[in-house]
Amino acid sequence: MSVENEMKLEFDSRSCNEGFARVAVAAFLTQMNPTLEEVADVKTALSEAVTNAIIHGYEGKVNKITILCHIRQQTIEIEVMDQGVGIQNVEEAMEPLFTTKSDCERAGMGFSFMEAFMDSLQVQSEPGKGTCVKMTKKILRTENKYER
Ligand code: ATP
Ligand code: MG
Repeated sequence: MSVENEMKLEFDSRSCNEGFARVAVAAFLTQMNPTLEEVADVKTALSEAVTNAIIHGYEGKVNKITILCHIRQQTIEIEVMDQGVGIQNVEEAMEPLFTTKSDCERAGMGFSFMEAFMDSLQVQSEPGKGTCVKMTKKILRTENKYER
């Protein structure tokens, strides 16, 4: 496995692209020889971040979402960026069950899932400018391929 590797994806904020982004990141992750569980964790976290960009960031309007993935040693760092409406109060938004769209069957659990499934989560946002969600996860490798 290479020690350092980077990729960048840019795509329209259409909900049909959420699955594409999930699979593309999972494919990039493969070189780290992750377990199925690690792949599922990363896909879930990524899916939450991309969905947030689509429905909250751009409020359904079509614009660009950028994903930057960086592998450093055994850690994958994923940034999901939008140039949408931004978040007024990031700390509050990250609290479990907090949602600004409770009328649309949103549970307010997206950030909590990202936090639970990844090792670190950082959210930078500026109202009117956009949001950057940065997550990292260490991928632990074992020598026994049958456990993979
Ligand atoms: P769920 O993810 O459970 O469907 P949710 O999306 O409301 O519900 P979170 O993903 O935890 O919950 O996000 C919390 C809140 O943070 C959102 O309701 C929204 O107000 C704000 N938010 C999250 N991501 C963005 C973003 N990219 N741009 C603007 N606001 C965002
Ligand atoms: Mg969400």
